[in-house]
Amino acid sequence: MSAQAVTSINPATGEVLSSFSPLSPAATDAAIEKADARFDSWRHTSMTERSRLMHAAADVLDQHKSEYARTMTLEMGKPLAQAVAEVEKCALVCRHYADHAPQYLADQVIPTEASQSYVRHLPLGPVLAVMPWNYPFWQVFRFAAPSLMAGNVGLLKHASNVWGSAMNIEAVFRQAGFPDGCFQTLLIGSGAVEGVIRDSRVKAVTLTGSGPAGKSVASIAGDEIKPSLLELGGSDAFIVMPSADMDKAVKTAVAARTKNNGQSCIAAKRFFVHADVYDAFTQQFVDQVAALRVGDPLLDTTDIGPLATRAIRDELQAQVDATLKGGAKRLGRLADLPEKGWWFAPQVLADAPAGTPGADEEMFGPVAGLWKVTNLPEAIEKANDSVYGLGSTIFTDVESEMTLAIDSLEAGSTFVNSMVSSDPRLPFGGIKQSGFGRELAADGIRAFVNRKTVSIA
Ligand code: NAP
Repeated sequence: MSAQAVTSINPATGEVLSSFSPLSPAATDAAIEKADARFDSWRHTSMTERSRLMHAAADVLDQHKSEYARTMTLEMGKPLAQAVAEVEKCALVCRHYADHAPQYLADQVIPTEASQSYVRHLPLGPVLAVMPWNYPFWQVFRFAAPSLMAGNVGLLKHASNVWGSAMNIEAVFRQAGFPDGCFQTLLIGSGAVEGVIRDSRVKAVTLTGSGPAGKSVASIAGDEIKPSLLELGGSDAFIVMPSADMDKAVKTAVAARTKNNGQSCIAAKRFFVHADVYDAFTQQFVDQVAALRVGDPLLDTTDIGPLATRAIRDELQAQVDATLKGGAKRLGRLADLPEKGWWFAPQVLADAPAGTPGADEEMFGPVAGLWKVTNLPEAIEKANDSVYGLGSTIFTDVESEMTLAIDSLEAGSTFVNSMVSSDPRLPFGGIKQSGFGRELAADGIRAFVNRKTVSIA
């Protein structure tokens, strides 16, 4: 691991915000030791006590939401209102698990010939969370709230461009009164992750991020025979059928593609529109995408801020260039962009041929792919022609079409007449190269527990 300082850079201006010193190997070891020692006592705390502390964490989030949101916006560029909403959603997930963990983790009685037989849910120990920058708070809290309620302790390795947010998250748990060592932020680079996974005191790892990072982390966890959970990229399909409420479909499509500056794993990225409504949909969709206000993410008049880093902006530009060169057509006009910073104009690319990035890859920014289809089976076939399988959407009022889509779309979720979103009450996760395992709801809290079988003769 490099001991060089790591800087947070404001993507709206290119200016350095702050600089952090990565943890030394000795300090990382000490943090793991602290987590391990804390687990010995934390695992025996009552659900009532854990619940009290998790409610306190929700209160801390509510009290400091403006401050946390501002740091997120400065570090990665999302519009401030969306950052505030993200912190509020974190409070929601804390309260959800504070209230529902006892029920999710109750003994599961299974009658047999024994006098008692049941499954008991026991914690595993320190869990490493490797997390991305796009939802700097939400991705972490959807792991941390269930894990701590289950009696595990958390170690966070956050993306290197959002270490200010990473420190804020550690402060939430400290201020809520969680015992020292329950939740620690490790300021380490990705090169130091392998050593943490292989450490015998660390019992499991969860990663939200890109495919290459997921492959590396899951391979190392596999080599160590440790459980892992992967939430990776997506290229979600959004199907529009003739019976759809067109105004609602267009409005939802624009939001689904451009929320979070277009940098969301569950953003709709590929739009398949029935020929009968293709022209009507396309005209409105292109107009509304072009009308989005691109600019300073701290202003509440802004719809789209900058992309998070220069490298991400350059990669997206290369993908768009290759897609246009491969035969796609850009529809509509491009917004004027500020000079400094890593800006990208929202845009729609029609008919990207197979083999181009626009058809085959995840476009992590405000670029929508659009294709005309003649029927639902064709839309489903095209939607499934992807290495990804995270979310999916269909707009239709026809029940048989809903059923066909729900049964046939290769994805971890199908949303009908609304955009894909995460909800603490519903399991969340993907199939294919979008990952494995489920977060949120009962599935999320059972991801890292020992489901111990107990049989008393
Ligand atoms: P990323 O480059 O994979 O980084 C994610 C995290 O993994 C960061 O903490 C990063 O640390 C670390 N990392 C990178 N390479 C690693 C390696 N070889 N070994 C161990 N750790 C490694 O992804 P990102 O650019 O931050 O996030 C964008 C991707 O995440 C997109 O593909 C998006 O779709 C996906 N995502 C998925 C979900 C979901 O729920 N399915 C949610 C959000 C985002 P450094 O920053 O230090 O490199």
